[in-house]
Order: sequence, then C-alpha cells, then structure tokens
Amino acid sequence: MNGLRRVLATDIDGTLVGYGGEEHLVGFFERHADLAVIYLTGRTRHNAETVLRRYGFPTPLAVATEVGAEIYWGRHMVMDDIWAFQQRQDWSPRRILHLLEAVDGVCYRGRSSHWRLAFDVHEPGMVKEVRRLLTGERVAVHLLWEEADHRLDVLPAKAHKGLALNHILNRAGIRSRACFVAGNGENDRDLMQGHFPGVIVANACHRLKASTSEVIWHSSRPGAYGVIEGLTRWCDQGAAKPLLAGAEGAADLA
Ligand SMILES: [Mg+2]
Repeated sequence: MNGLRRVLATDIDGTLVGYGGEEHLVGFFERHADLAVIYLTGRTRHNAETVLRRYGFPTPLAVATEVGAEIYWGRHMVMDDIWAFQQRQDWSPRRILHLLEAVDGVCYRGRSSHWRLAFDVHEPGMVKEVRRLLTGERVAVHLLWEEADHRLDVLPAKAHKGLALNHILNRAGIRSRACFVAGNGENDRDLMQGHFPGVIVANACHRLKASTSEVIWHSSRPGAYGVIEGLTRWCDQGAAKPLLAGAEGAADLA
C-alpha cells in the first residue's frame, strides 16, 4: 500500500474496454502509480483475469466478480472467505430453478457460474411477476434485467457491486472519499448513489445516465476516454487525500 494515495473502483466492459482508448488508459495508469485499482465486473474470475491481461491493466487491489458475488484480493487473486460465506448463506439456486420452472413466459437459459442463473423473459411484466413470486416464497435475490437481450439474471441478494466495494474498502481501511467510481451499465447503478465521486461514461445505459449526484461527472466521451476525463478532473481537484482511514485495522494488501 505504500505510495498509494487514491483508488479507482471501476466496471470493466463498456467502461474500461470496448469503446477505444484502452491503451491511453493504460498509459494514464502508468503515469499515476499512486492510483490503486479495484475492478467490479459481471464477468467470472477467469474472464476478468483474461481481459485485464489482454489490455495490460494494472494488478488489482481487489476484483469483485459476478456483479459482486465474489471478491478476490491482490496479484494472487486470493478469495475473500468472509464475503464468500455471506453470499452462500442465502443462495439457493435449485429452489429458484424449481420455482421459476413453473412460470409461463420464463425459460431457463443456463447457468454461467455458481452464482448466476439466466432466464429468457420476453415480457417485461414477467420480471415483476418473478420478483413477486420469489418474495412471496421468501427467497431473497438480486434480479438483473437486460431488456434488449430479453435476459433476466438471478444472483444472490448481496451480489451488488456497491456492497462488494464497501466490503473491500472497509477491510482495506480505505476512506470512501479516496475512492473514485466509474461505470456504464445497469449493474453499476448502486455505485452512483453519491457516496463516492465518480464518472458515468457517454455510452452508459439510460437509467444510469438519469442518475443525478453532484459528485458524479457525466462525461461526453465513451468508455476509457470518459474514464480518463473523469479521473483527470478528480486528480486535478486535489483528490489525493490520505487513502487509509487509519493505520490500525488496515488489511494486509500484499
Ligand atoms: Mg459495463
């Protein structure tokens, strides 16, 4: 942690990659070696590692995968056991499958990992129906609806990027004001609630763009270019406050 003064907590797809400028962003990171990076992604661990390697992005302080269902620490990607235990407590995929199998208009698409069940849902109204059914059965979940893709993902109730980020910052003893967030998608909404300064890139989904907070910058540039713009503004504003909330209690981040 020595030399690190601030941290970027960022989505990957559509934010860091996919809209050009990735090599410029890597250059930005190289010029700002005091900036730690936390990646928050819907990808699996393997897919996240693959894309970070491919573009040469910095070694993570931590990575939250599967929309925050899992957290890994540092270069060696050590799983956060406390977080994993909390996720397992209320995750019952077989029960969810059994309940939703019986619903007309909801078709099981597959399971991309232990934490993510995907369903085809063509009628938006059925998403409410699924929520009502699961709530009635006291099954707590996080539903992610991709309308354009007619895809409904069912994840553990605590699989949220914002919750994962708070856990990471707490364990690392990092002040929230030393953390800058970046995102583009529906699953980044809870990062943009105003607890952290941040940037929403130009290619963001409509619901994210509708977020209003005086500490969130709406960039006119897409993807990595928008992240560079937001980070540059933040750094220029003298955001480099002390990173650690206190020497005591800071996790070993080696
Ligand atoms: Mg994204």
